[in-house]
Amino acid sequence: MTMTPATETETEEELDSALITARRQLERAATHVDVDPGVVERLKHPTRVQQVSVPLERDDGDVEVFTGYRAQHDDVRGPYKGGLRYHPDVTSDECIGLSMWMTWKCAVMDLPFGGGKGGVTVDPKDLSADETERLTRRFAEELRNVVGPTKDVPAPDMGTDAQTMAWFMDAYSMQQGETIPGVVTGKPPVIGGSYGREEAPGRSTAIVVREAVDYYEGDLSGTTVAVQGFGSVGANAARLLEDWGATVVSVSDVNGAIYDPDGLETHAIPTHNEEPEAVLEQDAPETLTNEAILELDVDVLVPAAVGNVITADNADAIDADIVVEGANGPTTFAADAILEERNVPVIPDILANAGGVTVSYFEWLQDINRRQWKLKRVNEELETHMLKAWDHIRAVVDEEGLTWRDAAYVVALSRIAEAKESRGLWP
Ligand code: GLU
Repeated sequence: MTMTPATETETEEELDSALITARRQLERAATHVDVDPGVVERLKHPTRVQQVSVPLERDDGDVEVFTGYRAQHDDVRGPYKGGLRYHPDVTSDECIGLSMWMTWKCAVMDLPFGGGKGGVTVDPKDLSADETERLTRRFAEELRNVVGPTKDVPAPDMGTDAQTMAWFMDAYSMQQGETIPGVVTGKPPVIGGSYGREEAPGRSTAIVVREAVDYYEGDLSGTTVAVQGFGSVGANAARLLEDWGATVVSVSDVNGAIYDPDGLETHAIPTHNEEPEAVLEQDAPETLTNEAILELDVDVLVPAAVGNVITADNADAIDADIVVEGANGPTTFAADAILEERNVPVIPDILANAGGVTVSYFEWLQDINRRQWKLKRVNEELETHMLKAWDHIRAVVDEEGLTWRDAAYVVALSRIAEAKESRGLWP
């Protein structure tokens, strides 16, 4: 594989930024597909990045100003779509990189959306519930001109949840003078949210683990799985996989991991939402560090916490047979190359966790139609969409001998390029 050489100004950390990784992945994927270089050039840049200041009156009366962003990468296939995160590491570049991944993710799933991502540089643990509400309402107001159900539709991401989306939707609707549920997805079902949305990224990750195990001729009932991260993606994936017969031997949160070679009872372990940072308080034969869970000898490793956990430093030590990316961007570009060399398949985030945005699409349809689907229908349609995307990518893997990530990019890029070519460049 050829890598764009690092410039002298790039530090090790910058090499692993979401934006640099996303651009390199795009450059690499472009070599596998017959696409107009002008289209690739356009896709390296976001349409726009809105940067805003978000003043917040703290509970003690002090005023603090936070910085927020909304990166809109590409909307050739439909409105920008993607989450809003509240996290201390949020930067403009991170939002751009993550918005690029959303463009590919929506195209891989063949959803009529483009890619967006945004957030506020803040540690949500430092905010009270009232402060989070005020911050969210003001952030929504600052983004009002660039979002909307036909323009850009945010959703939950790291540090945000259904309640955040409810406040965002309310603030937007109050200013618009009408209730507009379709401005965000991932809302509580009582105000137009979809049943099954919260579990969806974990559900799709579990479906992809199941299909990957089947593809590599394993049987889920004899499969050992380690899941890094016990938030909405990791916990839902772990619980479903256990329900489907897999042996989930290890799960972790920010403080470390628990390990039981006979399998953990994942339903008894509180998720991050149910009780934050409770994993290490559970009874288990062994505890491990967050580094060690990644290096366990298991059939499937699911990194489902934060980005950049599999890097050039530990890729050689990954002992799993298959990696399925539950988080966005857990594997750096350099680590990807090492795992490819070692023949460890990595099923990419833009497929594995795409259940989130897929059910967001269902939610958006339900909002537009003012109808609510039953959970059974949501899960059935999600299954159908996931299998269709899986089959499509698998065919490219089989026919062209590409990695799963490259194959997913080829599928996404072909669809986006076709749309761009048929719409043309304006003016
Ligand atoms: N934040 C989620 C993701 O990274 C969901 C985005 C959405 O539903 O729009 O895929």
